[in-house]
Amino acid sequence: MTGDEAALREALVATMRALDAKGLNRGTSGNVSARWGDGMLVTPSGIVPDELTPGQMVHVLPDGSTPEGSHRPSSEWRMHMGIYQRRADAGAVVHCHARHATTLACAGKPIPPLHYMVAVSGGASVPVAPYATFGSDELAREVVSTLDGRRACLMANHGLIALGPSLRHALAIAEEVEEQAAVYWGTLAIGGPVLLNDAQMADVLQAFARYGQR
Ligand code: 13P
Ligand code: ZN
Repeated sequence: MTGDEAALREALVATMRALDAKGLNRGTSGNVSARWGDGMLVTPSGIVPDELTPGQMVHVLPDGSTPEGSHRPSSEWRMHMGIYQRRADAGAVVHCHARHATTLACAGKPIPPLHYMVAVSGGASVPVAPYATFGSDELAREVVSTLDGRRACLMANHGLIALGPSLRHALAIAEEVEEQAAVYWGTLAIGGPVLLNDAQMADVLQAFARYGQR
């Protein structure tokens, strides 16, 4: 194994632990992956973050095959692989059941443009992918098509998914989507949000292209 692969395996474990520590996920819910060669490295199915080890991360090829003796990959491996196949900009994918995002997903409510940081998701709102059974091909297809160039979406009656160039980015986007879901949920309790308009969100999307250190 190369040093790069060992570091990526460690980063996958660290990301699952971070989701737990940040209160964005719990138990065996959620899964994370990173592009690796033609395929990906993904968390194993049904293991709590405390018990995860780098050696359990599963190398999955595009046809779903895994090396002899591997752990079983996340039940959502098709959803992760579908993203890598359709999105050249995806280096990593984070899926979790964060409370507020999941609350909205269970109510079928997309996150509207209520705060400029919604644009971190790559669009003016965060849509909800239609419901399908966890781990199904259908869920993978619905999520890939709902993302439609964005970096995050909610998943009906399930949770949220985010992608980015790296695990660090994908985690940060998942965290911000959960924050915006919580803010939206809060505004619904006090009469509803005052939304930004299309022009304002278009400005923010442009400003983000220039934001930060270069
Ligand atoms: P896995 O443990 O198989 O990754 O499944 C967790 C999950 O969140 C399914 O959607
Ligand atoms: Zn899930």
